[in-house]
Amino acid sequence: MGFDLIGVNPKLKDNPPQNSSREEYEEFLRENVGYYFRANGWYWRPIWNIVTLFCYPSILNNEDVEGGFYNDGYVINEEKALAIAECLEEKILTGELINVIEEENEYSHKLPNECCNICEGTGVRKNEIIEEPLFDREPYLLDENQPEGTLVECNKCEGTGQIRPVETFYTYSLSCINDFIKFCKNCGGFSIA
Ligand SMILES: [Zn+2]
Repeated sequence: MGFDLIGVNPKLKDNPPQNSSREEYEEFLRENVGYYFRANGWYWRPIWNIVTLFCYPSILNNEDVEGGFYNDGYVINEEKALAIAECLEEKILTGELINVIEEENEYSHKLPNECCNICEGTGVRKNEIIEEPLFDREPYLLDENQPEGTLVECNKCEGTGQIRPVETFYTYSLSCINDFIKFCKNCGGFSIA
């Protein structure tokens, strides 16, 4: 699940470019940090977990917290966005926020591997046509160099039979938090879509 945070009333240095190239648009986003904050679920959930930990209930109410975990357009107003930024900055200064990030990363690192659910731990799977409509990709033969129906290396675990648990994909990082703080200060409130 992807999350787009959109500034409600962002402080802008430039007008948003019309019909711009991708590079121009990326440049605009770098210069106008309150306009838009892009985060896929692996990044956004950890950010919002940290926000919840430190800003609930002093800044955010139950509805706000819940709204942050869904991408259906919930709005955090400017007053709260600014308060979140201030609160997170303070928790960085006290060291509390870094501690949480380190604990989460340590926890994640210690989680044992899991048996690969695609090959059931064997490291091999039948060469077959793969359909992934969600990824907007045409059906394809798993290993094009081998005949269909033979056993080939499992592409999910790369033949090891083991995968990292899904919890380890969540990324706790100080640089993500710092980017989010900049966004909060410049967005004029944001919607989560
Ligand atoms: Zn596998």
